[in-house]
Amino acid sequence: MKLLFCPECWDMVKLAQDLRSCACGDCVGKYLADDHHAVTNGRGYCLAINNHTLVPALMLIKEATKKGLDIEPPRVDCCVRAHGGLYNPRTTVDKTLSWQYLTGKRYADVKRTTTVEEMEGPEKAGLTD
Ligand SMILES: [Zn+2]
Repeated sequence: MKLLFCPECWDMVKLAQDLRSCACGDCVGKYLADDHHAVTNGRGYCLAINNHTLVPALMLIKEATKKGLDIEPPRVDCCVRAHGGLYNPRTTVDKTLSWQYLTGKRYADVKRTTTVEEMEGPEKAGLTD
C-alpha cells in the first residue's frame, strides 16, 4: 500500500486510482490502472506498508478483540522511500501533476466550497472535463 506524507500539513493520504492530495494540496499522487505503479508530483515522502505483514496483523487484532484479549501490537513492515529510483521503481514523478493543473482550481478553494461527497474525487466533484 502506497501513501504520501506531507511535511507541510502532516497529512497522510493513501493513493488510489483517482487523484488524491494531502489536506493542504501540496502532495498529489495516484495509482495507475494496474494498481501497482503510481505517479506523484514528487512532493513530500512516499511511504510503503507491506500488505503481506499488514493483513496478518489485522487478523490478529481482529481475533484478539473478538476474544477480549489484550495482545502486544503485531509489527507491520513500513518504509519511507524516495519518489522513484532503485528502491521505489514502480513510482514515477510528474512535476506537472497537481490538483490545480487537473482541475483549474486550487485544492484549498475546492475543499472549502464542496461537500464531503463531492470530495471523493475530481470526477465526482465535476471538476474534470
Ligand atoms: Zn499537505
